[in-house]
Amino acid sequence: MGSLTDLTGRRFGRLHVVRRAPNQGRRVMWLCQCTCGHRKTLATDYLTSKGYRSCGCLRNEFTRKRSTTHGDTIGRHPTKEYRAWSHMKGRCYNPTDPRYGSCGGRGITVYAAWRKDFAAFLRDVGRSPPNGMLKRRDIDRDYAPDNCFWEIPSQSVSHRWRKSSAGARFRPAKRPRSSIETIAAPARAGARKERCRANG
Ligand SMILES: [Zn+2]
Repeated sequence: MGSLTDLTGRRFGRLHVVRRAPNQGRRVMWLCQCTCGHRKTLATDYLTSKGYRSCGCLRNEFTRKRSTTHGDTIGRHPTKEYRAWSHMKGRCYNPTDPRYGSCGGRGITVYAAWRKDFAAFLRDVGRSPPNGMLKRRDIDRDYAPDNCFWEIPSQSVSHRWRKSSAGARFRPAKRPRSSIETIAAPARAGARKERCRANG
């Protein structure tokens, strides 16, 4: 096996080598504690020559930081949330958008803080669940924190309404109450209108 370098106690960036771990095949493995709290088992060369310096959290932070500088992307593709945001604006403000007639054409607008600021939109509605679609509870009202949510369209309509009270629908994370007029929500009445796919 040759000479084994004992890495126990050594530090590689955020990683602290706790102890040797069982070999994987012929590879000598080390249990590492990351400063973020996660533990990861890595082979010797990952630490000494491949330059691993965290459990993966460092890289995640880096890509997250980079992706938020221009819009919101995964690789080179805009995220679902970013696309929903730009489609929403198109429906409301771009007369050439095929769905402008059912939104902007009817006087529907986008909440002022969202219109110019994707980050504000994301903060209020949160990330979409898988397959989620941005919907409004009441299609006669604007795109605003108290009217938008992520809907999972795979659920059949009847099933959906039965489940809705059990938390199948995703509600906006936070609502800056002060800046929106509070309207006594016609809760179930508004729900029926959503079935016409106007705001998809
Ligand atoms: Zn970490």
